[in-house]
Amino acid sequence: MSGGTCVILGSAESSADVVVCGGGPAGSAAAATLARLGLDVLLLTGAARRNPWVETVPIELGALLPALGLPATSLLQVGQRCCWDDERRTALHLDRTMFDGLLRRAVAAAGARSWAGQAAERVMRDGARIAGLTTVSGLTVRARAVVDASGMRGWLRRRLALADRRLSPPMVAWRGQVAGLPAGLGDCRARFSPFAEGWLHLATSRGRTTWTRLQGDRRVGEPPAELAHLPMIVPPRACDVSWRLARPVAGPGWLLAGDAGGRLDPGWGQGLLFAVISGLAAARTAAACLAAPTQEAMHLSAYDGWFADRIFDGAATLRRRYAGSGIRLPSEDEAGPVRIPA
Ligand SMILES: Cc1cc2nc3c(=O)[nH]c(=O)nc-3n(C[C@H](O)[C@H](O)[C@H](O)COP(=O)(O)OP(=O)(O)OC[C@H]3O[C@@H](n4cnc5c(N)ncnc54)[C@H](O)[C@@H]3O)c2cc1C
Repeated sequence: MSGGTCVILGSAESSADVVVCGGGPAGSAAAATLARLGLDVLLLTGAARRNPWVETVPIELGALLPALGLPATSLLQVGQRCCWDDERRTALHLDRTMFDGLLRRAVAAAGARSWAGQAAERVMRDGARIAGLTTVSGLTVRARAVVDASGMRGWLRRRLALADRRLSPPMVAWRGQVAGLPAGLGDCRARFSPFAEGWLHLATSRGRTTWTRLQGDRRVGEPPAELAHLPMIVPPRACDVSWRLARPVAGPGWLLAGDAGGRLDPGWGQGLLFAVISGLAAARTAAACLAAPTQEAMHLSAYDGWFADRIFDGAATLRRRYAGSGIRLPSEDEAGPVRIPA
């Protein structure tokens, strides 16, 4: 087995023990773990896109990195320790391009192959089992298992027409980035400000401010007033952040990990942590299924239950937190369908 990123020339068919779709945190965590368990892994990283955002993560994320072959302290190479506005808690501000790059290096070091810029397109079946996929370029990959970590796009969920349960009213978050810091907030700071129909999160890092606002109403996402005078780096973008869970998240020959399987709105603050944890868990489950095929149904059902419990627990915590902060989520009738501006 040889690691590394390659550009594919000529060969129209390949095989692997496991093919992983998506080079975000969930996909990289899954691919690195599978390779470290001695399996032949192929990671499809999807379209190469720079991720400009700074995201706030709990310090505990560092404790997961040794399982991927990285020192826990490597998070400090791709982010900064930050302090919440209340001074009581610390967290990390991660540069997403750098964090995703760090995890991809762990994938290569573990010995997994990566196909850069290749996205999964069609599913290959062998009766009721998923037996591989074809890519957008028409390349075929036969595999004993497929882990889909394609994020919100939910490639495999769509292909398999799985139920996509919505656990909240429709919700939209706007996010943007400006150069400079708002008055009264220093560098390496995080501030969460609730208001009646949502919240505003500010993350300052290296002289930039990333803002995220969950808003119950459907106004276009203007930058927050306290940032309006600062030069824009990334203009406001809208995102459907309704709470969702695919049912189920695993079946014969396939598993979903990270946002592809389920997600809550960014107020949860655990999206990246859960992406890495579920990538690890999906990999261990896939490895257990390949090692003992007669016990596959049991392993998949345990993974599905664990994944759903994590999402339901997170949803219950978030509901309590919102109620305690006086945030009233819109009812189904008030919210109406989510329409993301082009
Ligand atoms: C506005 C907003 C703010 C957020 N803020 C925070 C925060 O502060 N802290 C936090 O912890 N979380 C935050 N999150 C959540 C966090 O960004 C996600 O939970 C996390 O990125 C999920 O990781 P993932 O690997 O599952 O998916 P992604 O990071 O989305 O990665 C999926 C990858 O799959 C690739 N892909 C897509 N389709 C295919 C295909 N067909 N084949 C192959 N590859 C494919 C994509 O190109 C992408 O690289 C926020 C989310 C939003 C929307």
